[in-house]
Amino acid sequence: MVEAEPFIIAGATIAAGSQADVSFPITTMATGTTSSLSVRVMHGARPGPAVFVSAAIHGDEIIGTAVIQRLAQELRPAALSGTVLLVPVANIFGFITHSRYLPDRRDLNRSFPGSAGGSLAGQLAHIFYREVVGRCTLGIDIHSAAIHRYNLPQIRIAAGNRRLVELAMAFGAPVIIESPLRDGSLRDQAHKQGVDMLLMEAGEALRFDRLSIETGVEGVTRVLAHMGMIEADDGLSAVGIPARANRSVWVRSPRGGVAQMVRQSGDPVRKGDLLACVSGLFGEESGELVSPVDGIIIGHATLPVVHQGDALFHIAAIDHPERVGARIDSITEAILASEPQGSPQRLLDEDEVV
Ligand SMILES: [Zn+2]
Repeated sequence: MVEAEPFIIAGATIAAGSQADVSFPITTMATGTTSSLSVRVMHGARPGPAVFVSAAIHGDEIIGTAVIQRLAQELRPAALSGTVLLVPVANIFGFITHSRYLPDRRDLNRSFPGSAGGSLAGQLAHIFYREVVGRCTLGIDIHSAAIHRYNLPQIRIAAGNRRLVELAMAFGAPVIIESPLRDGSLRDQAHKQGVDMLLMEAGEALRFDRLSIETGVEGVTRVLAHMGMIEADDGLSAVGIPARANRSVWVRSPRGGVAQMVRQSGDPVRKGDLLACVSGLFGEESGELVSPVDGIIIGHATLPVVHQGDALFHIAAIDHPERVGARIDSITEAILASEPQGSPQRLLDEDEVV
């Protein structure tokens, strides 16, 4: 067996088949306390690619933190070919204040590549990129919907990249969306430097739900198996075929008031199907929201109190939505059928379990 060379990071030398937690100082806070970015490095016994998994780049999108906690317990460096870098919280500042943003009001995911002498967000982006992203050939970055919104677990990838389509299919989330990259985003910067990235969207900000967490854990594990970094467990190869789309629409409330949702994420809809009714405070003058396209609902608002123009549904335009919807049901049922292992149950708030 060929043994991997040691992995050197943050001044630490990590031997083949072992793991270490390293941290990178980011800044000194107003109170004088220091803050740093924590990374677990799992360095495989055998040589192979380096892959990072990151969460909470938007500080309130914590689903990925739960996914990474599970991966940290389940992956074993001795059984790994290559290196996995786990970043449970990228936006360490927004995480503790339950905010998408940093204390300087910037969005970390619009601050790449950043610089050592830049803003707080720029410094964090610079270190995260230099020390983690730049060492890898693939990254999986996990997001959730914003507060009071829910996203069906889905993978977003850059358009026109066949390797990413293959990896997204291996991940096995119910839906794959191919979309253009945003300027200044982590994916945009990674793309420019030749680092492939899968972006997972799942669940709701500041909440955990079992479907999102299980989809993330199984998806990352399947991707590592697909790349030959771990032995695939039984059952991992049986993945339903995800739905694919390259166009999505937002459906907005026609009036302010109180929304009664008729449909939710995962539902197939036809153009003209009723999605929700929004009425006045006494239930009067109910306005109907209908789907403008044939497709699958990939995100919905969970807060019934709405203003005119609020986006209540996000729908991926897909042909044959009923057939695709049935396939999505079979994928989500398979994901939920797997028994949670190890210690995950203590992570779940009962009220939030799907
Ligand atoms: Zn996000």
